[in-house]
Amino acid sequence: MSTSILYHAFGLKGIEYQSTRYIGNYVIFSAEMNSRQFTCPKCSGDQIIYKGKKKRWFHMPPIGRKRCILDLLLHRVQCCHCSHVWWPRLSFMLGNHGFVRSFALFVLDMLKLTTIKDVASILGVGWDMIKNIHKLKLQRMYKTIPISKITTLGIDEFSIRKHHNYMTIFVDLSSGRIIHAVEGTAKEKLLPFLRKIKKRAKSLKAIAMDMSRSFFWAVKDTLPKVAVVFDRFHIMALMNKAIDEIRRVWQGQLDKLGQKTLKGSRFLLLRNYDSLSDAKKSRLDLLLEVNQPLALVHSMKEQLRLLWRLPDKEAAQSFLEAWHTDAVSTGIPQLIKVANTLQTYRQGILSYFDHRITNARVEGLVNKIKTLKRQAYGYRDMEYFKLRLYHLHQSRYSFAG
Ligand SMILES: [Zn+2]
Repeated sequence: MSTSILYHAFGLKGIEYQSTRYIGNYVIFSAEMNSRQFTCPKCSGDQIIYKGKKKRWFHMPPIGRKRCILDLLLHRVQCCHCSHVWWPRLSFMLGNHGFVRSFALFVLDMLKLTTIKDVASILGVGWDMIKNIHKLKLQRMYKTIPISKITTLGIDEFSIRKHHNYMTIFVDLSSGRIIHAVEGTAKEKLLPFLRKIKKRAKSLKAIAMDMSRSFFWAVKDTLPKVAVVFDRFHIMALMNKAIDEIRRVWQGQLDKLGQKTLKGSRFLLLRNYDSLSDAKKSRLDLLLEVNQPLALVHSMKEQLRLLWRLPDKEAAQSFLEAWHTDAVSTGIPQLIKVANTLQTYRQGILSYFDHRITNARVEGLVNKIKTLKRQAYGYRDMEYFKLRLYHLHQSRYSFAG
């Protein structure tokens, strides 16, 4: 071993090799900071003396299957001109982290192939160290996320822990990138980022969202000129909820045999009719024959789906009005409730025809997030979790856990 190999193989500059020890599975290189010229950061003087010393240990990339450690003697230096005292930073150090730069780069290479857990176990370090290396890289990558060219945006929420703690994400609908994530869904949580958008994203035209009041009012208050488009999938979800409610009430009224017949019908009722196989279509037809309200609501749902296929806003407007009249005339409370909600929000529903955006891409991301959440790192580090969200659009490998 020599100073030269420490430099050429591990990128360690500014130190002098001293000795090597072999302890168990470890190879430990001792080295000392060399007494090259230092320039004082205060007065640019180049005359220094050593003033104190300390030892620091750093993880290095392994050699074969042996783990390597750098045992480094550092000197504190003092400027002879102005007496300023400082600990010099060597080029391979990353802040106060206990690993050298080449170790971090090695870890990042490995993370392209496998999980944090695997990398930690192969290199014999803690999960947190590997996570922090990845975090450092993501922090650099996503220090500023460009938003000035965004024209359409999607807002959605998902739960961080089961049924508690929601997180709101803002997605650039043309690139599919999550450009911001914030804990909570309340209006005041969304305002800071919306204000930033107001200042920087001058070409933003429309935002797709569900019919949540806080999203709507946060956008209306901050960006009054930006159109709100209520997302079609969330609107259809309201219809599915109504169908589900009617089905459940019916199920409760049936005897054992009847309940058995109804078993598995939920899927049939909630899926789009076109996407069912012929056998499933006939089963559903039979089911609807014996329950008039369910048949009505199901048919209203299938009709409503056609709304987004209409050629323009005018056609959609008359369609929606006719649909509302039909829905109210059924007298079915669950359906009337949906119809009135759609009536209230019709402007945002119809503005689809001005901007033609949906949150389909956002829903796709939310599914990816579910996978991310299932992996075992929990939420010990919320900042890291958010960085992972910003990185989601280009992570080919799923190396969490
Ligand atoms: Zn000085």
